Amino acid sequence: MRTWPALEIRQADDDDLIQAFLIDFNLAAIKDSRFFFHNVDDRDRAAMALRAHFPGIDPRPMDVPDEDWATRSQAALRAVTVGVLTIAPPWDVAGRLKPAPTYVGAGFSQPSTIVIEPSMGFGTGHHATTRLCLAALQRLDLRGRSVIDVGTGSGVLAIAARRLGATGVLAVDDDPDAIAAAEANVKRNQESRIALEVADFRSAKIGQFDLVIANLTGGLLIASADRLESLAIPGGRLILSGFMDHEERAVLGAFGGCALEARAEEDEWVCVSLIAPSGPP
Ligand code: SAH
Repeated sequence: MRTWPALEIRQADDDDLIQAFLIDFNLAAIKDSRFFFHNVDDRDRAAMALRAHFPGIDPRPMDVPDEDWATRSQAALRAVTVGVLTIAPPWDVAGRLKPAPTYVGAGFSQPSTIVIEPSMGFGTGHHATTRLCLAALQRLDLRGRSVIDVGTGSGVLAIAARRLGATGVLAVDDDPDAIAAAEANVKRNQESRIALEVADFRSAKIGQFDLVIANLTGGLLIASADRLESLAIPGGRLILSGFMDHEERAVLGAFGGCALEARAEEDEWVCVSLIAPSGPP
C-alpha cells in the first residue's frame, strides 16, 4: 500500500500560521494534528524549516498508510468560488481575504472570502449541494432579512447569508460537533449575529424567518416538509437541496403549497428555491 510522508505536530497553538507556512512545502493534506506531503524531501525540508521558525514545536516525521480520506481531504485543500463568494481553507487565503460584498443595484460589486476549516464538519464548498445553495442565496436580496440555516454543518451557509446582507441567522444542527465547528468558523470569519443551536429542527421550538435554507436529504425534506414550511413567514422563501433529480418530484410534491421560483442542478444534485404560501387559503 502507498504511504504518505507526514509530520505529526502536537500542541500547536499557531495552527493557522503553521498551515500557511507549510503550503510552501507542497503540502498534500491535513488531518487532525498530521500534515501530509507529496514526497519525503518536502516533508524533511518542512520539518527543518518548522524547527527553525517555530522553536516551541517538535514535528515528528512518520509514514502513514494511504486511506480514502487522503484523496478526499486533498480536494478540500483548494478554494472554491461561487459567484461573489469564495470558500477557502485557512491555508489558501493569501491575497484573497476580502470584506463583505457590497450590494449595488441588482447585484454585488465586490467578492468576499469565507474561511472554512475542511476537517470540521460537512460544508466546505466541495459538495455540489453546498455550491448550489451558495448560488441560490445570491439570487435573493437578503438585505434586512432573517434566515434559518437548518442543518448548518460547518456553518458555511449561515456565514454566507450574513455576508450577503441578512440581519440575523439562526443556525441549527442536531450534531454537537457540527455546532462546535460552526462556532469556530463563525469566529474565524469574524461574523456576528449568527445564533448557533444544537437542536433537532423537527421538534425544537423555533420561530419564523424570511428565508429557510435546508441542505438535508430527499427523505428528510419530504418527511419534514410541513415543519420546514412552517418555519418560513407567509410569502417567505425556502431554499432546499441535498436531493437528487430522481427525488425532485416527490420533494416538490411534499412542498405542494409553495411556488417554485428557481431550480438548479449539478451532478444530478438539485437545489430549488420556493415561495411559501402567502397566508391561509
Ligand atoms: N449546511 C451545510 C451542511 C449540510 S449537511 C452545507 O450546505 O454544506 C446536513 C447537516 O444537517 C448535517 O450537519 C447534519 O448533522 C444536519 N442534520 C441532519 N438531520 C438534522 C435534524 N433532524 N436536525 C438538525 N440538523 C440535522
